[in-house]
Amino acid sequence: MGLRKLITTHIDHPESHTLNQYRTVGGYQSSLKALTTMTAEQIINDVKNSGLRGRGGAGFPTGNKWSFIPKTDKPKYLICNGDEGEPGTFKDRLLIEKLPHMLIEGMIIAAKAIDSHQGYIYIRGEFKKGLDTVEKAVEEAYAAGILGKNIQGSGFDFDLAVYSGAGAYICGEESALINSLEGRRGHPRLKPPFPAVSGLYACPTVVNNVETFCNVPHIIAMTGEEYKKIGTEKSPGTRMFAVSGHVKKPGIYEVELGTPLKELIYDICGGIKNDKNLKAVIPGGSSAPILNYEEAMTATMDFESIASLKSMLGSGAVIILSEEADLVETTYRLAEFYSHESCGQCTPCREGTHWVADILGKIRNGNGTQKDVDLIFSLSRNMEGGTTICPLADACVMAVRPTMQKFKDEFAKRLKPVGNEDQSKKEVANVG
Ligand code: SF4
Repeated sequence: MGLRKLITTHIDHPESHTLNQYRTVGGYQSSLKALTTMTAEQIINDVKNSGLRGRGGAGFPTGNKWSFIPKTDKPKYLICNGDEGEPGTFKDRLLIEKLPHMLIEGMIIAAKAIDSHQGYIYIRGEFKKGLDTVEKAVEEAYAAGILGKNIQGSGFDFDLAVYSGAGAYICGEESALINSLEGRRGHPRLKPPFPAVSGLYACPTVVNNVETFCNVPHIIAMTGEEYKKIGTEKSPGTRMFAVSGHVKKPGIYEVELGTPLKELIYDICGGIKNDKNLKAVIPGGSSAPILNYEEAMTATMDFESIASLKSMLGSGAVIILSEEADLVETTYRLAEFYSHESCGQCTPCREGTHWVADILGKIRNGNGTQKDVDLIFSLSRNMEGGTTICPLADACVMAVRPTMQKFKDEFAKRLKPVGNEDQSKKEVANVG
């Protein structure tokens, strides 16, 4: 366990983004292997055997996702979700800027697996450098016969277009991304039907994350069986973690899944800034429920361990909070973010996120009362559990409620004293 370079082995080379450099380290050999020696079923089975799970948020098994694509005459579309917008997350940005050909190669292999001849890379609008880099890489690939007709002399055709988002967080949700790609407003769609059946232009569509695609060439090169030996049995492979907050060495680290969180914080990231104590960790992007100190010290960075603590690995953003962190302020800011990014289609989300943010602002300013705390918990119950089209409302609840429950004293101290302060603390402690 610990640091393990699999997809980032050559990332530090100054020319890592170019076709020439990528080829010198074996680039496009896996796509050649997949295109010329493997059937679609063999590719899917290899990816299934690897145990690869999506690196964007939900952690759905990638091979299974590909196998859901029906064998129809309809066009099938392949989309890379590069709309990385979850607060704290910045690892796909690095891959887009440094390893665009690895991403393209992963998409070519996936295209063969699902019999798609048209793919799209949807990149977050703010990633101007990444957009330029990927566009250049796609041009290079076309010029070298790696994209287009009869790619790599295999008889397989695959076209790839690059699309820039316009800055909406919600376009990271796959059906909103598909609407955006079609030129519509970036609103999430009701599901079912799921994109595998009716996605882009009402055709079968697979949407995968940047890091997910970047793992695919390595799986094909080493076989799924070998890949499965990295990480833990149920969470194989490595994971890119974007570590931010109160650590001495924030940054992006590729580690084996199953690495203790304690090791990531203290050994890899150098410990807590200014040698303060650790207070809490948000382990998978802002919508992953917060871990307190005791939980963080026992957690390992794999899907199962974090899920057993009722949180999630999510988008790979690890936010470290020291004893100096103001969790009331942090929670308020996150709620504000969700309120701002709600697309407004569903009442529990449109109204709920707004109310939660407003009430937290009141508490942050010292004007909140116990009734306000009660109201946040009541609103939360109406926002979660499938009452909305997409999980944004749930994400807001997960960013707010666990923090208010686990750090209730911190919130109690900010309430406007009513009668005597101790009574106020006691009431907060009983909520939720
Ligand atoms: Fe839009 Fe929120 Fe409904 Fe998602 S939950 S569709 S963001 S209103």
